[in-house]
Amino acid sequence: MKSKNHFKRPIPNKRVGINDKFWGRYIGLVKNVVIPYQWDALNDRIPDAEPSHVIENFKIAAGLSQGEFYGYVFQDSDLAKWLEAVGFSLDVNPDPELEKRADEIIDIIVKAQQDDGYLNTYFTIKELDKKWANLRDCHELYCAGHIMEAAVAYFEATGKRKLLNAMCRFADYIDTVFGTEPGKKRGYPGHEEIELALVKLYRVTGEKKYLTLSKYFIDERGKAPNYFNKEAEARGEKTDKVWERLGLRYYQAHLPVREQTTAEGHSVRAVYLYSGMADVAIETGDKTLIDACKKLWRNIVSKRMYITGGIGSTSYGESFTFDYDLPNDTIYAETCASIGLVFFAHRMLQMDVNNTYSDIMEKALYNSVISGISLDGKKFFYVNPLEVWPEASEKSKIKEHVKVTRQSWYGCACCPPNIARLLASIGQYIYSTHKDEIYTHLYINGETEINISESKIKIKQETRYPYDERVMISVSLDEEKEFSLLLRIPGWCDNAKICINRDEINVCNTKVNGYAKLKRIWKNGDVVELVLPMMIQRIKAHPNVRANIGKVALQRGPIVYCLEEIDNGQNLHEIVLSHKSELKAEFDDNLLGGIPVINAEAQRYNSPWKGELYKAKVESQYRPVTVKFIPYYAWANRTPGEMMVWITER
Ligand SMILES: [Zn+2]
Repeated sequence: MKSKNHFKRPIPNKRVGINDKFWGRYIGLVKNVVIPYQWDALNDRIPDAEPSHVIENFKIAAGLSQGEFYGYVFQDSDLAKWLEAVGFSLDVNPDPELEKRADEIIDIIVKAQQDDGYLNTYFTIKELDKKWANLRDCHELYCAGHIMEAAVAYFEATGKRKLLNAMCRFADYIDTVFGTEPGKKRGYPGHEEIELALVKLYRVTGEKKYLTLSKYFIDERGKAPNYFNKEAEARGEKTDKVWERLGLRYYQAHLPVREQTTAEGHSVRAVYLYSGMADVAIETGDKTLIDACKKLWRNIVSKRMYITGGIGSTSYGESFTFDYDLPNDTIYAETCASIGLVFFAHRMLQMDVNNTYSDIMEKALYNSVISGISLDGKKFFYVNPLEVWPEASEKSKIKEHVKVTRQSWYGCACCPPNIARLLASIGQYIYSTHKDEIYTHLYINGETEINISESKIKIKQETRYPYDERVMISVSLDEEKEFSLLLRIPGWCDNAKICINRDEINVCNTKVNGYAKLKRIWKNGDVVELVLPMMIQRIKAHPNVRANIGKVALQRGPIVYCLEEIDNGQNLHEIVLSHKSELKAEFDDNLLGGIPVINAEAQRYNSPWKGELYKAKVESQYRPVTVKFIPYYAWANRTPGEMMVWITER
């Protein structure tokens, strides 16, 4: 065990006011469009969407309606994530009508709970005698975790305990079923989630047994003989036939977690597990767990992650594959996986403040997370490709999961409410504090109040980041006070400038782990001006990434860019960027509600071909063209067509 005294705490969502052009738009969208829209979807009121039936499932389980269960075994989690998003939204935008709707659905959820505390509509309606008999596939603990998270968020927003108390009863019951004590099952979830939820429940109630239960699930995972295999034998099944090639790696149950050094299997499950491991490590100071988290983190970000922060290279098992296998067109990169990567990064950041973590958190947020939602908030991507050829998506089996347009809803609707809860809670990712230190991880216009040894310090950010490179940070406090304000200097920025009350300071001298540490006696009205020059960067991939050799991607600030057919014509693969070509960043007020674009001089392959498939002695010819790049997150919001992030360079 190691001292955990140096671990930081994030400033909660409720205490961070956001008034930001970029994220404020998303937060407003979640409140005004996404939450009402998803409520309609959960109630099966969207005409062109796949049915959900989740509210009806809860009503049937509660005895308020007659009928059969419909949907996946994890259907309950869609409502839970919606409710969690409502909690986060109410943190900053009180809305009595929405709160009333949430109270009403909470009444139904609690009515669906069994006397012993068990809650799961699938098993309650269909086969209560089979509960806990197939942890590998049936998602009971996963759904439990999501409702626990919803309960915590709703309690923190409103102070209402009804769902929280119900979820404590559920956790108490789960604690009687699972553990190492005689008579208990030595199981753990096939889809991780409850681990991080139990830590949240522990933090809000102070009940140690929830932390112990979370630690149990993590410690037990992957031990031999394997629980999932034993459980399958008891059901009369031999092995996991569905994920034969992945085996137990699919569930991250191939090894005890402390022996796992590479990110394996289903990518959402993986990053949820790692987030739970990090949470337990933060609460216990367990060095072996911290080391395991660091190894897994390094493996992901140095060998298994897309430039957008997407993870999961294949649709088979929605999983990680192997180092440097990052195809752009058969990619999976589920929206939920990038959201999970944000969770993991945020937790690592509290253990060890370093821009290694916050840069990746930012990368995922500004690219692969928000590419999952349309600009109008009504359509969603499950898979986030880096290259799209519509005919291939239509006709090729191996690319059929790569959609050219976002969908209204999914039968398996994990991603849409997951984005909603993340966007509604973006405030909690901005600041952390520890003793006399205030850390700023993200630059988002707004303000917060932070307590430093009994002094209240108000921090206000004024910025148009990520469109603009300037951030003004003002400090308000009653009496002068010595403390450190630490500002993240993103890894993509070479020449950051900082002035305090107009006096420039040497940034290099202040840098600790990628953060400028400004330690001084602060006075009311002090102003820090941070300038993060956003040059357009031509990013290359490691040469082992076969898909990207000889190619380049453009990035400005945290935003990765792409080409779309609607701006650049068909056959985007013919476009070539010379390393000398001029690149110009501009803000286009008229495009997609106002977005930054990059206009570039490029070339298009233009050699004469007359129907031959193969030919010798071809003289490569190119004609000059002007091309327009848009932010990756904004693609697929106009006429559907081709899209490409990595462009050939010569
Ligand atoms: Zn998902």
